[in-house]
Amino acid sequence: MKKAIIIYGPPGAGKGTQANLLAWSLGYIHFDTGKFIEQIVHDPALQKDRIIQRERKNFDSGNLATPSWVLKIITQKTKEIARAGLNIVYSGSPRTLYEAFGDAKHKGLINILEKEYGKKNIIPILLKIEPEVSIQRNSKRLTCSVCKTGILGREIFQKHMRCPICDAPLIRRTVDNPAVFETRLMEYREHTLPILAALKKRGYDVLEIDAKAEPYKIHQVILKKIKLKA
Ligand SMILES: [Zn+2]
Repeated sequence: MKKAIIIYGPPGAGKGTQANLLAWSLGYIHFDTGKFIEQIVHDPALQKDRIIQRERKNFDSGNLATPSWVLKIITQKTKEIARAGLNIVYSGSPRTLYEAFGDAKHKGLINILEKEYGKKNIIPILLKIEPEVSIQRNSKRLTCSVCKTGILGREIFQKHMRCPICDAPLIRRTVDNPAVFETRLMEYREHTLPILAALKKRGYDVLEIDAKAEPYKIHQVILKKIKLKA
C-alpha cells in the first residue's frame, strides 16, 4: 500500500532532512511546501502575476502564504503524485487547520490524503526539540545553492562554504535570518500545534521522536514505523 508521511516540528528540527532520507532510501516523493512555494513565487516567468507578487512578499518576510492559494496548489500537486501511485512525505505541511481540514467549500489536505491513500496509511510524526536548540541550529544553517541540501551546524562544510553532495557554494536563505526565524517559530506554535491536536482527536497516532538524536537514528525509528504499518 502506498503511504503518506507527515513530518512536523519547529524550524531547525530536521524535517527536511528526514523527508530527504525517505526520498533517498525508499523513493518517497518529498513534498516540501515551503520549497514548492519558494519555487513558484521566485519563478521569473510569473513575476507579473499580482497573486504571485503578493505571495512573494509574504514568503520573503517569513509570513505564511495566503491559505486558500496554498491549499489550491498543494492539493492539486498531491492528487497528481497519489494518482501516479507514489509514496509521499511532507515536511511541515499542512501548516494551518484550514490547509489540513479545509472548510465548507474546500477539502483540506488531510481529506485529500485520506481519500487517495486511506487513513491507515497516513503516518503523522512530530520531531520534538527545545526552542533554544532550534534557534541555535538555525543560526548556523546554510543551504546549497544548487541541490538545496540544508547543512546544520557542520563546521567542516561551513568552513569551505561548499555543499558536501554537489560541491556548489552554500548560501544563507532569507527565511533563516534571525528576525524571520522568530516569526517562523511563532507561526509554528500558533498554527501547527493545533493541527497535531486535531489529528489526535481524529484518531491518528502521532509518532513523537526526540529530534536531538542523529538524523540516521531518527530515520531508523521512522523506517520501523513504516514496516509495522506495511
Ligand atoms: Zn548541493
